[in-house]
Amino acid sequence: MKKVVKFGGSSLASAEQFKKVGNIIMSDPDRKYVIPSAPGKRFTKDTKVTDLLYRCYEAAVSGEDFSETLNQIKERYNEIIQGLGLDLSLDDEFSVIETSFKNKEGKDYAASRGEYLNGIIMAKYLDYEFIDPVNYIFFSENGRLNQEKTYKNLGKKLAKTERAVIPGFYGCGVDGKVQTFSRGGSDVTGSIVAKAVIADIYENWTDVSGVLVADPRIIENPKPIDTVTYKELRELSYMGASVLHEDAIFPVRTEGIPINIRNTNRPEDKGTFIVESTCVKPEYTITGIAGKKGFVSITIEKDMMNSQVGFGRKVLEAFEKEGVSFEHMPSGIDTLTVFVHQDEFQQKEQAVLANLHRSVHPDAIEMEGDLSLVAVVGRGMKATRGTAGRIFSALAHANVNVKMIDQGSSELNIIIGVQDKDFETAIKAIYDIFVTIRL
Ligand code: ASP
Repeated sequence: MKKVVKFGGSSLASAEQFKKVGNIIMSDPDRKYVIPSAPGKRFTKDTKVTDLLYRCYEAAVSGEDFSETLNQIKERYNEIIQGLGLDLSLDDEFSVIETSFKNKEGKDYAASRGEYLNGIIMAKYLDYEFIDPVNYIFFSENGRLNQEKTYKNLGKKLAKTERAVIPGFYGCGVDGKVQTFSRGGSDVTGSIVAKAVIADIYENWTDVSGVLVADPRIIENPKPIDTVTYKELRELSYMGASVLHEDAIFPVRTEGIPINIRNTNRPEDKGTFIVESTCVKPEYTITGIAGKKGFVSITIEKDMMNSQVGFGRKVLEAFEKEGVSFEHMPSGIDTLTVFVHQDEFQQKEQAVLANLHRSVHPDAIEMEGDLSLVAVVGRGMKATRGTAGRIFSALAHANVNVKMIDQGSSELNIIIGVQDKDFETAIKAIYDIFVTIRL
């Protein structure tokens, strides 16, 4: 078996955390390819090394003295090295970094050093080979991964390498310089490595015991989800559940490699399996609940609207012209409502309204702001009667007024619009009915 294991920043924030990671890797000889992030936060008010690097580089570019921040970064690594009792010095690496900062090597280069240095420490600690992704992961002109070149080179190299540490988050741009993925991109590196070695599983180690049924800031100790499909996860992530970097799904998905989200601080927990499809019945009727605040609904009223060919298109064009994307568009006989993001819409409101008046001559336009959308997601809903009924009776009992209902055509989700002030109450009511009471 071949396992690719990625560890997030909080799993590698200190020597103590590094030791936990070491034990996890050494307890299973199949954990052959290791992707480290940069050291993250050790406590709530701490700063991630990646953020320190961005700050340090900014100072360097503006010609300010950046030695203090660079020393702070050095300290973080030295603490780890000493805590692990390693015979390793990063002094030479730091002098190269200092010179490169002075020479304005680039923001991406700067940020990538967090993973690079952590990779060196990890490789030494585990006695694994260190592989610098700048030589094996390539970007294209458009900033996306150059798949052909990457898989060819990385695949060849890893086929010859029994065990390796490959720092996350960066690769090589078309100009030959270091280029990073967007923030949280070590997840993507892990997925690329898993695909390159055709791993049996991609383990993504973090500080929670898997994907949670609901946001822990709203629900106290929410249950973790055992198994979630890629599609369900996509719905949940889109609606605000932060689990994995969005782009981390694609490489493994094409190979059918499952992802297992695990907790470094509780390795005994099984975590969540993210899979293409499964016959595993979800523990509850729903898989998860997520939601976002800050939407506006624009309701356009016009008698006989339904019989006018092209009405919907014209309405959407009024938004398109101003570059506003829409989230949902439920309709009635003589009304059509468009849901958009409040922050994106606000400055363009009057222009959109003018477009609407000109193109569809509505009888009336009504707008309501401060709305939330709550997504109830679950592959089990398709085969279960009365899910919607239970959701709405729970909301009614909790005194939540439902503003909109939209069941996705895949029957994988039901989206509910409520006022922002009812957002938390709505999520609690839905969680309770399906998970706590288990109706
Ligand atoms: N260190 C990078 C960040 O903070 C990448 C990562 O952790 O995945 O975004």
